[in-house]
Formats: sequence, C-alpha cells, structure tokens
Amino acid sequence: MLERCLGVRRVRQIQRAVRHSTVTFLCLFLTVVVLRGTIGAGKFGTPEQDFNEIRGHLYSRGRRVEPHRVLEEAQPDSESDQSNNYATFDISKILVDEEPEEKPDPNKPYSLGPKISDWDERRAEWLKNNPDFPNFIRPNKPRVLLVTGSSPKPCENPVGDHYLLKSIKNKIDYCRLHGIEVFYNMALLDAEMAGFWAKLPLIRKLLLSHPEIEFLWWMDSDAMFTDMAFEVPWERYKDHNFVMHGWNEMVYDEKNWIGLNTGSFLLRNCQWSLDLLDAWAPMGPKGKIRDEAGKILTRELKGRPVFEADDQSAMVYLLMKGRSTWGDKVYLENAYYLHGYWGILVDRYEEMIENYHPGLGDHRWPLVTHFVGCKPCGKFGDYPVERCLRQMDRAYNFGDNQILQIYGFTHKSLASRRVKRVRNETSNPLEVKDELGLLHPAFKAVKLLQAVDIIIRET
Ligand code: UDP
Ligand code: MN
Repeated sequence: MLERCLGVRRVRQIQRAVRHSTVTFLCLFLTVVVLRGTIGAGKFGTPEQDFNEIRGHLYSRGRRVEPHRVLEEAQPDSESDQSNNYATFDISKILVDEEPEEKPDPNKPYSLGPKISDWDERRAEWLKNNPDFPNFIRPNKPRVLLVTGSSPKPCENPVGDHYLLKSIKNKIDYCRLHGIEVFYNMALLDAEMAGFWAKLPLIRKLLLSHPEIEFLWWMDSDAMFTDMAFEVPWERYKDHNFVMHGWNEMVYDEKNWIGLNTGSFLLRNCQWSLDLLDAWAPMGPKGKIRDEAGKILTRELKGRPVFEADDQSAMVYLLMKGRSTWGDKVYLENAYYLHGYWGILVDRYEEMIENYHPGLGDHRWPLVTHFVGCKPCGKFGDYPVERCLRQMDRAYNFGDNQILQIYGFTHKSLASRRVKRVRNETSNPLEVKDELGLLHPAFKAVKLLQAVDIIIRET
C-alpha cells in the first residue's frame, strides 16, 4: 500500500531511518542507565532530581565535598541537641552542693584549732631530727612557701578564671626564679571563715604541717609580681616575724584602715605567729559576729567604709590596740612594694621601662602590683571593669616580658598577647646570657657541697 503510494525506494529509505533511530535511542537509554548506576543519581529520582544530582556531582568534582557530607551525617539528628557544645553548656548543672552547710553553735567562741603553746620547741626538735629539710637553704636564705588561692567555685564571669590563671602563672614564674615553693588552695577549710578570712585557717594548717618552712608568703590572687628580679631582703627581717607593706604612723597614730595591706605578707613559722593568728581570727566568723565587728572597725578606724569585718581592718585594729604585745615583731615595710596599689602604678609602666630596670622593687620598678578592689572573679568591683581588666593585662605583660626576655622574646606591647623576637636564634644556646641574669640567678643557686663531691669523685 505504502509502496504503491510512495514508491519502493522511498519506503526502503524510511525503513532504514527507523532502524537507525531505534539503535540510537537504545544507545542513549543504555548510557543513562550506566550513568545512574555509577554516580547514583538518587533513589527513585524524578528526571529533574536525576538531572540536579548529576549536575551537582559533575560540578563538585575536584572540590572534595565528601568530608563535609560525612561531618553533616555525624551531627546529632535534632538541632536542639547541644550535648557536645562547651560554649552553650550550663555549668550550674554539675555544681551542686551535696549537703547543706552545718550551722555553727553561736555560743561557742571561735577557735582556729587546738591550742598549741610550745611550737618553737617542737619545731626545733623536728628540724634537728630532719637535717635533710633545713629551714634555711643558705645563710640568709630562708625556705619560703608562697601561698595563694581562690574560691572553690568558678568565677561569676568565666573571664575571671582566665585572670586567675594568668595570676598563678605569674607567681609560678617568680617563685621558680627565686627558689620558692608554691601552694594554691581552692578548698574552704573552715566554712565560717569564708572570703577574705579563708587564708587564716589555711596559713595555720600549713605552718604546723611544714616545720621546714621558715617564712610563709601569703599573696592574694589579684596581686601580681611585676619585678621578677627583686629578691626580698631577708636579712632585714631576722628579728621580725610578720612583714607587711605599711607605715607605722598611719597604723599606730592615725589608725587608718589602709595603713597596711594584708594582700601580700610574710609570716615566720613560730609560736608568736600562731598566737597572732589566734588574736586575729575572732572577728572572722561570717554572719552576726563579722557584721557586728564591722561596725566596731568602721567606728574605730580612720576612713573605713561601712561593711562587714575584713582581715585588713582587723589587723590594723589589733596592732593599734595592742602595739606593746605585737609591735616589736611586726615590720611595716615601705622601702619597696611588697604590696603596691595598682592605681598609682599601672599608668607609669612605660615610664619605668624608659628610665629604670627590674631589680629595684620600689616605685621605679614595683615588686608587686595588687589590684585592690577590682574583684575580677566576683560580681561587682569598686572600679570600672574595663580599666581593671585592661590594667591587669598590662601588669601581667610587664612581668611576663622579664620572663620572655630570658628566651629572647617580648610582648609586642604591654597591651598585646602576641610576642616578637628580640634576639636571633643561635646554634650555641648554652652561650646565651640574658640581660637580667634570670636564666641562672644567684638567688636560686643551691650549695650542695656533698653532691658536687660525688660528681667529682665519679668522673
Ligand atoms: N580567697 C580565697 N578563697 C576564697 C576567697 C578569697 O582563697 O574563697 C583569697 C583570694 O586569693 C583573694 C583573697 O583571698 O585574693 C582576698 O579575698 P577578697 O575577697 O578580699 O578579694 P580581694 O581583696 O583580693 O579583692
Ligand atoms: Mn586583693
């Protein structure tokens, strides 16, 4: 029929064309099937999904998206599940106080511990029996324990803990260079003596447990060493038991509550010191006793604001009332900054760098910068937070530069966490001498004649 209408030749041509296009179509179909099999264009995908998958696959070649996909698959199913996220974890979940605090008997007078009255004899006996633990490392170099600490709880603002870390790192540096041991306390040994009074039971415990320690150096957590090269003039205190920064006239005549500072002091390990702690402690127990004592201190001392009894005011009060009992063994030091009030020091660091050098310890290069009133770990301080934290960083860096110079580095500026080189690297590291001689300072040197003897004999 067709042949009749179109002619035989034309019909053959059409049949050949149809056969060719069938083969072409078959080839195309097979290609799609193979492609889907090798690059996996989705399960039961619609042609559009298939197309997008194939396009995505081709586009992503060489861009390695696989790890990303693996990571995405490892994520928790729901977005609200943040169990791996430290940034959003609420720490109060694990900070539970196991038991309610015991209420002390208000009729029982407070005591730091069982009465001890012959400590000097007992300690002397112990030292005689333990010659490997002498209380003096060399003549005029007492064995010293630096004690500091902070509350058992994290700071109100986590950044406070970062400053505590900087502060203890700073103290470790000073103490390593000066051959001083360090004790960091975070336990509240006596619940009644919380806050600024916590140091008293701790100090007593340490003196009694370590008869080998000649001097205990208490230092607040908000105080930092700013002169790494200054060695305490120990010889000067040979006839004294208690050294604080302060002025005799301000304490004994003016009765000024800032006539001395209890943020950094030296206390000798002896009976006199145990008696002093007993006399110092009674205003400490928190609650009614501390509140009532605060009123007496504000009334009796010059310039004191109204607040609960604090250890510093109590010490001024004790000394001005009982100068004859305590005065001759107390040394109020002001020839260098055993404690230095930050407000008058921090803006002068550049001037000090310009004109002076470490090792002086006084207004030219203060031994200690104490951030009185800043309270970086608490909720509120007495000064703007920004000034406190900025200046604490500067004080830290000022001290840290003296450590870094030993190794040939310095902070880029007092405000900078970053450091730069100040010396080229050398292939003779043992020949390097640091400017301040802090790499092997004389005040740290240990005279071990016996040990040297042994080494010489063995070689
Ligand atoms: N301190 C402590 N445990 C506490 C609270 C304070 O060891 O629970 C220490 C800490 O080193 C602090 C010092 O006691 O610097 C004085 O405490 P205060 O609250 O008076 O702080 P500051 O006067 O130093 O701002
Ligand atoms: Mn302090």
